[in-house]
Amino acid sequence: MLLDPFKRKINYLRISITDRCNLRCRYCMPEEGLQIIPHEEILSYEEILRLVRVFAAEGISKVRLTGGEPLVRKGIVHFISSLSQIKEIKDLTLTTNGVLLKEFAHDLKKAGLKRINISLDSLKKERFSQITRKDDFERVWEGIEEALRVGFSPIKINMVAMKGLNDDEIESFAELTLRLPLVVRYIEYMPSGNGEEWRGSDLLTVPQIMNRIEKLGKLTPVPQGPWDGPAKRFRIERAIGEIGLIGAISNHFCDDCNRLRLTPDGKIRTCLFSDEEIDVKELLRNGGADHDLKEKLLIAIKKKPERHPINTHQFKKCQRNMSAIGG
Ligand code: SAM
Ligand code: SF4
Repeated sequence: MLLDPFKRKINYLRISITDRCNLRCRYCMPEEGLQIIPHEEILSYEEILRLVRVFAAEGISKVRLTGGEPLVRKGIVHFISSLSQIKEIKDLTLTTNGVLLKEFAHDLKKAGLKRINISLDSLKKERFSQITRKDDFERVWEGIEEALRVGFSPIKINMVAMKGLNDDEIESFAELTLRLPLVVRYIEYMPSGNGEEWRGSDLLTVPQIMNRIEKLGKLTPVPQGPWDGPAKRFRIERAIGEIGLIGAISNHFCDDCNRLRLTPDGKIRTCLFSDEEIDVKELLRNGGADHDLKEKLLIAIKKKPERHPINTHQFKKCQRNMSAIGG
């Protein structure tokens, strides 16, 4: 078992397989001029697979693929199929913006993907375009329908709640759970590298969101499952889906943190909000042995901070863009 210095069990690796994306969400990327990682710096699928095999033998049992937009990287279905054959990986999941999901859902399921998270911040076509700077609302919605049709379960819809931008849709998102078997998760808006300037006044906190949802009906807490992350889970009376709330800012979720992140260019990050990075690409490309990679894993775990510094005077935005960290 992998334990960090604060006795947290580390078993989860989030892998950003590309920093490229087919949307330009305002809170994540600038519209133009984003510096991308040169192609040759990006880990190949073979390199990632080797790393996951080594880490899985040490205790990593959950992997999430993210990006950028993971579905824009060529060969992802075959890659997922290879990952799903690593027997120690018990939970293999993907976070996507859903634009390409209609085309991919069936093949992803067949390749062994277990679960899927889809990011969607508005149910209104125009507003979707305003937030993402692209006109793809229908494609995303059709992607969600296709994911339901091919039998992904659970399907989580992640909504970043922002004051004055989409906060009038908190209730409409919650109401989706009355008619569809979706898990709607509200995520607090966080400061990130290249997104639009983050202001504390844009933040809609989990308690504020809860207040609004409670008015829709009695909320029953749902017990945490083995693969659940930091979300607090509830079900509205008579709903077939669920609600989740992720308070990255308002209530520290760090006590239960179980994760490391791998960037597209082969750096392990110890915390979403820390710029501490441990390079593994050098070893992967220059004949490093498996035990050297294991050593890097142990160093990263040892360096995990106890808490993130948001809400403290030491806080500064991290240097990397969210799309190169994976969210
Ligand atoms: N492109 C994929 C997507 O959007 O689902 C995967 C990568 S994206 C960086 C992963 C998650 O990070 C998304 O749910 C996105 O909404 C979230 N995210 C990005 N910037 C954020 C911010 N500033 N605050 C909160 N969540 C953010
Ligand atoms: Fe792309 Fe996801 Fe960032 Fe939106 S949040 S720009 S979809 S990486």
